[in-house]
Amino acid sequence: MLRSHTCGQLRASHVDQEVTLCGWVDTARDHGGTLFIDLRDRYGKTQVVFAPEAGQAVLDESRKLRSEDVVRVTGKVAHRPEGTTNLKLGTGEIELRVKKLELLNKCQNAPFFPTAMEQPGEDLRLTYRYLDLRRPEMQQVLKLRSDIIIEMRNYFAENNFIDVETPILGRSTPEGARDYLVPSRVHNGLFYALPQSPQLYKQILMVAGYDRYVQVARCFRDEDLRADRQPEFTQLDLEMSFVTHEDVINIIDGLMQRMAKKFLNLDLKLPLPRMSWDEAMERFGHDAPDLRYGCELIDCTDIAATVDFRVFRETADAGKKVRGICAPGGAAFYSRKLIDELTEFVKQFEAKGLAWFRVEPDGKLWSPVSKNFTEEQLAKFKERVQAKPGDIIFFVADTWAVSCKALHNLRKKIGVDLKLYDPKSMNFSWIVEFPMFEFDKEENRWNSMHHPFTAPRPQDVPMLDSDPGKARAVAYDLVINGSEAGGGTIRIHDQATQSKVFGLLGIDAETAKNRFGFLLDALQMGAPPHGGIALGIDRIVMLFGNLDSIREVIAFPKTQKATDLMTGAPNLVETKQLRELGIKIAETATKT
Ligand code: ASP
Repeated sequence: MLRSHTCGQLRASHVDQEVTLCGWVDTARDHGGTLFIDLRDRYGKTQVVFAPEAGQAVLDESRKLRSEDVVRVTGKVAHRPEGTTNLKLGTGEIELRVKKLELLNKCQNAPFFPTAMEQPGEDLRLTYRYLDLRRPEMQQVLKLRSDIIIEMRNYFAENNFIDVETPILGRSTPEGARDYLVPSRVHNGLFYALPQSPQLYKQILMVAGYDRYVQVARCFRDEDLRADRQPEFTQLDLEMSFVTHEDVINIIDGLMQRMAKKFLNLDLKLPLPRMSWDEAMERFGHDAPDLRYGCELIDCTDIAATVDFRVFRETADAGKKVRGICAPGGAAFYSRKLIDELTEFVKQFEAKGLAWFRVEPDGKLWSPVSKNFTEEQLAKFKERVQAKPGDIIFFVADTWAVSCKALHNLRKKIGVDLKLYDPKSMNFSWIVEFPMFEFDKEENRWNSMHHPFTAPRPQDVPMLDSDPGKARAVAYDLVINGSEAGGGTIRIHDQATQSKVFGLLGIDAETAKNRFGFLLDALQMGAPPHGGIALGIDRIVMLFGNLDSIREVIAFPKTQKATDLMTGAPNLVETKQLRELGIKIAETATKT
């Protein structure tokens, strides 16, 4: 090594030792004749002193040092002078008094300095990611990510799982997103698809008798990117044989308990709470509710059916829903202007409007539309949503689906606006028994809610024929703080049920044979009952690190437009490469 210690290592016990450190110049301060620099590496910072005793030559060289230069310094460890120790820093009791300075590399033209007080915009951070990754915060996060993955791997190894790698160049898999395709040079005109997940391979591994499989797997989905999506992301992927959903959930419960203790010093009580999808949608309007606070959706359709207020009554008469949410203490917070903003906000989610009622100090409800209601009716609404003086109640009158979407988002906003929870707190739970299918109006057929290999609950199998929309799946999602942290299912392990589900999804026998023939064959050659789950590692690190974006936990993330600003990917390639692949770019291709 070019160094004897790291920049985070030296303590009072090292005083009088001669040491060599290497690192980046963090800051430099010239105190008339003596220069102080903070030398930084990923382990910490050490105060390095260039005093006259080092000799004029070293002193002259030291004056040329600038932030982010890379240096090697040799000298003696000394106590810091009385009154100048810094207890916030591990190395705060000592300093290094330099005898020898070696400039290993100059930093030229840095567009920003990683430890500057103000962070540059995200585009600049991603373009010069190596500077950004020098920031101690980024280094801590990537270390947390590494520690989390090590912990996961250890846990699964201790529980008898085998780590198996599955192909990146494969066949299109069925998670329902668009595939990334890779053209074949050897077989012009044919394509590999990058895996949306190792789903089919892991099921095949169960048929092959591997019993407990795990992998930290990269997955690729060519979707329009939302805030916490990336075109490539990492899953902790696992599959188990001869299990029920209880076994899979238990294994993940155990992992969460261990990780919460280790990384958050939090004692999780097991089993983690579970809620059915039906209940989650009824109470929160969403399948990944944030359970750190209440403020639930309350169905008031029956009361709405009795009132003169047209919007309410007609909605109820049409078999739609009038659901409300009570924002505790919100009457003072939500001014008319803010309520107008909330009304615009819910329109994004297709709601036509937002009715609101303030609970006055005397306990009566007041609203611009209150004259359309009798006192008794108002009292009934108030009682139903359990509102108290100072609260404000919002109602959405619409289809069940729109009321779910609009009120879920409204609930999230109210939670933040009224600070209804501690943003540092953590909540873990399961949502179970999802519907097997959702109806796709455009395509006029069913879509799987998870993926086509999900098993129905045994008691719901007859519904596949009679009422597929009612059939519930043996499916489970892990939800942390209102974020889907993972999801899995028990799989169909017999060919007949699998073919029936394909039929409902509009995949005819021919297409099924073409796309998944190998799986259907395998299911007929001794497939054990099996099931599994995948956890989103990026999202879990984000949640455990209390961060807002998964780009903060990925070393080299893509932008919202799926580009890599540092390397410039995606990029044009040589005509020769295209020729080898038998590909010609269409005239109409949009050039950027
Ligand atoms: N393959 C699924 C996914 O990526 C997870 C699973 O069912 O195990 O969402």
